[in-house]
Amino acid sequence: MIPYGRQSIDEADIAAVVDVLKSDWLTTGPMVERFEAAVAAYVGTAQAVAVSSGTAALHAMMAALEIGPGDEVIVPALTFAATANCVVYQGGVPVFADVDPDTLLISPESVERCLSPRTRAVIAVDYAGQPCDYAALQSLADRHSIRLLADGCHSLGAHFGTQASGSIALMTAFSFHPVKPITTGEGGMVTTDDERLAAFMRTFRNHGITTDARQREQAGTWYYEMRTPGFNYRISDIQCALGIEQLKKLDGWIDRRSSIAAIYDRAFADHDHVIPVGRQPGSRHAWHLYVVRLPGGIRRRVYEQMRTDGIGVNVHYIPVHLHPFYRQRFGTGPGLCPAAEAAYEDILSLPVHPGLTDDQVQTVIDRLLEAVQPARRAA
Ligand SMILES: *Cc1c(COP(=O)(O)O)cnc(C)c1O
Repeated sequence: MIPYGRQSIDEADIAAVVDVLKSDWLTTGPMVERFEAAVAAYVGTAQAVAVSSGTAALHAMMAALEIGPGDEVIVPALTFAATANCVVYQGGVPVFADVDPDTLLISPESVERCLSPRTRAVIAVDYAGQPCDYAALQSLADRHSIRLLADGCHSLGAHFGTQASGSIALMTAFSFHPVKPITTGEGGMVTTDDERLAAFMRTFRNHGITTDARQREQAGTWYYEMRTPGFNYRISDIQCALGIEQLKKLDGWIDRRSSIAAIYDRAFADHDHVIPVGRQPGSRHAWHLYVVRLPGGIRRRVYEQMRTDGIGVNVHYIPVHLHPFYRQRFGTGPGLCPAAEAAYEDILSLPVHPGLTDDQVQTVIDRLLEAVQPARRAA
């Protein structure tokens, strides 16, 4: 099976992990700070707070803004469930904005229609690795005095104009799950320029306790204070050592992902039935996903045929407001976000990751085009 996404691990990654295993600190040691400093330097922020997952990063952002009961946070309908779940963890209400029908990025016009006196923030998701329209979103956020946050789980390494993903919104959440741009096995990070928010999140990830074990050991004291109950969202030194090595390779990987995307683009340029998701000019795409639309009710047949052929295609995503939890708790359902729902009917994610060979990319193209024709006759 050619998977849609996969990690790339080399000997330097393995050596870095083994070195930590032989050291004094397996968790919250020197590697956490080093990884945070490397990511902050890479995206160009003053602060970065590493946590145990992208979901923990999203939750930390919500807690740092003191989102609570009665507060509304606007999220796009076409995203992974965690983007909305983090609002629910805090007792807040996620409000689902629709996406642009061409780019599938959160639509600023739809965000505008979702605003209410209780709106506190919007979480923009850089779907597939393409940055959202941050110029429009920031101006909207400023006009309505709400906070602009980013779920950058797909977009580490992407740029909006000259601005790097991670440096645009007030806070940005990243994930280091194996299919994401770089991996730590599991892991996440929040980047921000705001020192106060970063300080809160450092405490939040460690039970709400003011110092970590290594700081106390170095200071020669057992004393600490727990001011608000936090969580154990710590990431380990083992994971961060891997992250440091991975980050060094990210730009080269994005170059490779971009050339794979260009091969797909050329292959589908004159196919009416395979339509790549639209792009905004002026951005650097991180190509976490390469998504095509297969109109005419053929997606399921093509998905099944390609899986049978050993191609690990996938569907990103089931619109979050259609999940049973959101229907039951918040009364959402079909018709709320028509563009996201229409996209869900015909999207397919093709394999794209740095380890793919040109031959494998060609195999994906051949199998896709072969699957589309009979599926169209059957539809
Ligand atoms: C992967 C992902 C997350 C969650 O990240 P984890 O590290 O798996 O917790 C959140 N949002 C989006 C858009 C993602 O793709």
